[in-house]
Amino acid sequence: MNISEILNHLGEDREQYFNAISPPVIQSSNFAFPDLHQFRAAFADELNQHVYSRGNNPTVEILRKKLAALEGTEDALVFSSGAGAIAAAVIGNVKAGDHIICQQAPYSWTSALLRKFLARFGVDHTFVDGTDLANIEAAYRPNTKVLYLESPNTMTFECQDLAACAAWAKQKGVVTMIDNSYSSPLYQQPASFGIDIVLHSGTKYLNGHSDVVVGVLCASKEMVRKLFESELMTLGGILSPHDAALVIRGLRTLPLRLQRSDASARWILDKLDDHPKVERVWYPFHHQFEQLELAQKQMGGCGGLFSVQFKTDSPEKMEAFIHRLKRFLMAVSWGGHESLIIPTIGFYHIPGRENPTIPWTFCRFYIGLEEPEWLWEDLEQAMEEL
Ligand SMILES: *Cc1c(COP(=O)(O)O)cnc(C)c1O
Repeated sequence: MNISEILNHLGEDREQYFNAISPPVIQSSNFAFPDLHQFRAAFADELNQHVYSRGNNPTVEILRKKLAALEGTEDALVFSSGAGAIAAAVIGNVKAGDHIICQQAPYSWTSALLRKFLARFGVDHTFVDGTDLANIEAAYRPNTKVLYLESPNTMTFECQDLAACAAWAKQKGVVTMIDNSYSSPLYQQPASFGIDIVLHSGTKYLNGHSDVVVGVLCASKEMVRKLFESELMTLGGILSPHDAALVIRGLRTLPLRLQRSDASARWILDKLDDHPKVERVWYPFHHQFEQLELAQKQMGGCGGLFSVQFKTDSPEKMEAFIHRLKRFLMAVSWGGHESLIIPTIGFYHIPGRENPTIPWTFCRFYIGLEEPEWLWEDLEQAMEEL
C-alpha cells in the first residue's frame, strides 16, 4: 500500500466521528452493548471488537492498522513501551526448558530480559556474534525456540543477514524476531525477508517528538492473536488512547523527519571524515563500515544515528569537549526533533556499576531536525578542546 495512503487515510473512518480530520481520543475504559446478540459477538473477538480498553480501543486500533501496513504484516499490537513489546514477543514464544539465540549486543533491557528475567523461569539463552550465520547455526540446540535479532543495533550497528537468518530458522521451526527501531519500517521491512515478528521502540522515530514511550509488535494474524490473548491481556502493558493519538500524529510526518535526519547525518559525517580529531565513525552506509554491502542490500537508508571515536589522549579533554557542546543535548533515547549525544565516558566511574568495555573516546550521536550547518558549528567549536 502507498505510504501516503497509510499515513493519511488507513484506519480512519471519519464519517463515524463528524468528519473530523484528526481522529478523536476515545477516552473510555469500556463499551456498552445494545443487545445480547452484539454482546456475544464482541466477546467472540475481543482483539477486533470493542469490549474493554485493555483489549481493543478505537483510537489505538487506528494506530495498529497503520503500523501493520507500514511493516507489511497482517496485524500489529501496541504496548506501553518498547520493552513491553519485546518482553511480550519473547515470553509468548518460550516455556521453561526452552532456549533462545540472541545476537550479542541487543538493547540493554532486552539483554536483561534474557539474562536476569527469563533465567528465573528456566529459559536459557546464548548470545552470538550474528554478523556470521555460522555462529547462529553453531548455537542451535533441539530446544531452541527463538532467534532474536537487532539489525542494526544502536551503538555500533552490527547487522545480521535477515533473509539468511529467516530461511535457516524456518527450516528449524525457530520463531524469528527483530528489533527494527534503528531503521523504522521506511528503511527496512524485515517481514519481507521472512522474519516472523517485527518489534519497535515507537518512542524513537515512529512517535518522533520525544513525548511518548510506546512499543510496537507486528506479525501475522495468528501470532498477534496468540500474543494478544496471552501476554497483552494477562500482563496488561497497554498504550493509552491519548498516547495512541499522539503517535498517530507523529506518524504523519515520519517520511519527512526520517529524510531530514538521514540527509543531515550524512552531511555531518562528510565533515567528520576530514577532521583530524576523528579516529573513525560507525554508520551502516559509511565507506568504513565492515558490513556496508549487507546493509545496502537489506536497508533503504540509515537515519540520524551514528557513533564516533575521537582522537584524544586525555579524559579531561574529552570531558571539556562534551561540556562545550551547547546545541546537542546530553540524553538517552533518539528519534525526536532534537539532536543528542551519549558520551561513553559518562558511564565510567558510576558508583555500583562496572566501567563499560566501549572506550571513553566513543560517543553516539543522534541528528534531529535542526539545520545541519548550525549543529556542525557547535560540534566544530567543541572539538577544539580535544
Ligand atoms: C529505546 C529502545 C528500546 C526500548 O524501548 P522503550 O520504548 O524505551 O521501552 C528497545 N530497543 C531499542 C533499539 C531502543 O533504542
